[in-house]
Amino acid sequence: MNSFSFYNPTRIIFGQDSLSQLDSQIPQSARVLILLGGNSARHNGTLDEVTAALGERTVFEFNGIEPNPSYETLMEAVALVRREKLDFLLAVGGGSVIDGTKFVAAAVPFDGEPWGILESGGQRIERALPFGTVLTLPATGSEMNNGGVVTRKATQDKLPFRSQHVFPQFSVMDPTKTYTLPPRQIANGVVDAFVHITEQYLTYPAGGMAQDRFAEGLLQTLVEIGPRALETPQDYETRANLMWVATLALNGLIGAGVPQDWATHMIGHELTALYDIDHARTLAIVLPSLLQVQREDKRGKLLQYAERVWHITEGDDDARIDQAIAHTRAFFESVGIATRLGDYDLGPEAVDAVVAQLDKHGLTALGEHKNINLDVSRSILNAAL
Ligand code: NAP
Ligand code: FE
Repeated sequence: MNSFSFYNPTRIIFGQDSLSQLDSQIPQSARVLILLGGNSARHNGTLDEVTAALGERTVFEFNGIEPNPSYETLMEAVALVRREKLDFLLAVGGGSVIDGTKFVAAAVPFDGEPWGILESGGQRIERALPFGTVLTLPATGSEMNNGGVVTRKATQDKLPFRSQHVFPQFSVMDPTKTYTLPPRQIANGVVDAFVHITEQYLTYPAGGMAQDRFAEGLLQTLVEIGPRALETPQDYETRANLMWVATLALNGLIGAGVPQDWATHMIGHELTALYDIDHARTLAIVLPSLLQVQREDKRGKLLQYAERVWHITEGDDDARIDQAIAHTRAFFESVGIATRLGDYDLGPEAVDAVVAQLDKHGLTALGEHKNINLDVSRSILNAAL
């Protein structure tokens, strides 16, 4: 097992009616900004519950953080926080609102142009406002990690950042708040969480026995409950498990001490920035082809994945790897997510455009061996046509 440092300070408050506990998590004297996406939290009553729980505190609202939050929009929130001298942020929404809130928290006290936060991958963050979250969409794990992704619309740059300063102080997770999600977003959540797990698991054997078993257990849980989450939207146990699996998929636990390969996310971000394809859909396009192209590097773990996650025992090594990749693709398709660029009306010109973006962003050495250069990325995208 590799050496590691693991720290996660986010308190999770989980369960039905957990929103009432917001009151105990935020100082009485706080001047709070609630950050929101479109209208979902206003329409389904979640916002009313949040404001009721905040009682007599001074509360402002910022609406309109879009899916794949934009720098342009978030800077409006930064201006509001500075103008009104607000000192506590509360994200109410999915990964986009939470990521956006992390950015605002870091940008408000940032010296200079806050785009520098994204250009430095978060390294230039020295402090951030305190913030909490109310999660309404199980998918990204942003509710219990210190990463975010922000898009500059003007230049089609979708860039990630990380910092020890942007862990949420707490996240409130009430599975009943996911009941109003459209099937498309549930499917996206299942696939995003699935790929977060494979990116910390499908690399090379590194002796992380517990990490492997955690990852395999989480993957198997998603395979079991993914279809149920779509068929029976108000099944509390299913939604509760989906919510917790998505959090555990990316809170640092399964990735501690093991190699990681975030190439699927990095290539996927470019597809979203260029063509506005949902985040999870880009991952479903890239991952099966990446596993195919990188199958020699990932051979040992692909065989383990085939056996332990998909129970594939027939055939020689290559046949079992082929089956495991086919099962992965079929699982994504089974929840309604297409896995080919052609399914999104994209052809060879998109391959050229994505490779050019990867080059522009310096993403020329991806993967656990840093050997996914631009030529390999091109092969992966060609295999996804
Ligand atoms: P999202 O973009 O936050 O939300 C997608 C849609 O779901 C929005 O239109 C939203 O509507 C709606 N929605 C949310 N909760 C709802 C509810 N309870 N009922 C009905 N509709 C609801 O989706 P996401 O998949 O969670 O986040 C994607 C973003 O996270 C991407 O930018 C991706 O790159 C990023 N990401 C971050 C991490 C990380 O570690 N930080 C990891 C992976 C991905 P409203 O806007 O009206 O609320
Ligand atoms: Fe993701």
